[in-house]
Amino acid sequence: RKKATTPESAAIEKLQEKYEAIDVSTINSFDDLPLSPKTLKGLKECGYTKPTDIQRETIKLGLTGKDILGAAQTGSGKTLAFLIPILERLYCKQWTRLDGLGALVITPTRELAYQIFEELRRVGEHHEFSAGLIIGGKDLKFERNRMDQCNIVIGTPGRILQHMDENPLFDCVNMEILVLDEADRCLDMGFEQTMNAIVANLPAKRQTLLFSATQTKSVRDLARLSLKNPAYVSVHEHSE
Ligand code: ADP
Ligand code: MG
Repeated sequence: RKKATTPESAAIEKLQEKYEAIDVSTINSFDDLPLSPKTLKGLKECGYTKPTDIQRETIKLGLTGKDILGAAQTGSGKTLAFLIPILERLYCKQWTRLDGLGALVITPTRELAYQIFEELRRVGEHHEFSAGLIIGGKDLKFERNRMDQCNIVIGTPGRILQHMDENPLFDCVNMEILVLDEADRCLDMGFEQTMNAIVANLPAKRQTLLFSATQTKSVRDLARLSLKNPAYVSVHEHSE
C-alpha cells in the first residue's frame, strides 16, 4: 500500500515554522497552541483546558517532529503528551484510512492500552482516524479483518510483535510515529528483547517518543536503540 495523498509540502513547512516559533513559557491553555480545531474541540469536550508541565514541554517538540525522551511521574499527563502530537501530525499530513498504520503506541499492560485507546477515542473524536487495540489473545481473527484499516494502533509488546510476525495485514511500512509508553515498566516486566525486536522491524525514518517515569540504565539502552538525536524532557512535580 502506498500513501494515497501527499500534502502540499509548502503548507507543511509553514506549519513547521509555526511550531518551532512556539514560546512554551507563554502557553497557558491548549488554545495558545496552534492545534487543529478538531483537536481543540475534542480537548474542550473532555474538559481539558490547561496543559500539564510535561504536555507543555513535549507537545511543541512533538509537533516539530523531533524524537523525545520524556520523564515525568505517573499521573502527570503523559498520555495526551503523545496523543496530541500523533493526532496533529497525521492530520497535517492529511492521513486517511487508506494510508494504513501511521502511529503505533506500545504500553506494558492491557489496562493501560485500553485507557489510552479510550482517551484517544474521546480527544480524537472529531478526527476521522481509526484506532485499533491489540491486547489479549482471543480476537485475532476480528483484528485480522480490519488491521489494515487502522491508522493508530495501541497494544502490549508481546501481542504487537506477534502481529508483526504473523499478520500480513499489520503493515508498518508507512508508519510515522512510534510511542514507547511507560518504557521503564515495559523493561521491568521483561519486554526488553520484544521491544528491541519491534523497533528493529519498523521504518528507520520515523519519529519516536519514549516516555518513562524513571531513567534507569535499561531505559537509556532502549533510548539509544530507538531514538535519533532526542530532546530530553524531564519534569518534576511541583507541590500544589
Ligand atoms: P501518566 O501517563 O503521566 O501517568 P495520564 O496521562 O494517565 O498520566 O493522566 C493522568 C490523569 O490526568 C488522567 O486522569 C487525565 O485525564 C488527567 N489529565 C491529563 N492531562 C490533563 C490536563 N491537561 N488537564 C486536566 N487533567 C489532565
Ligand atoms: Mg501513562
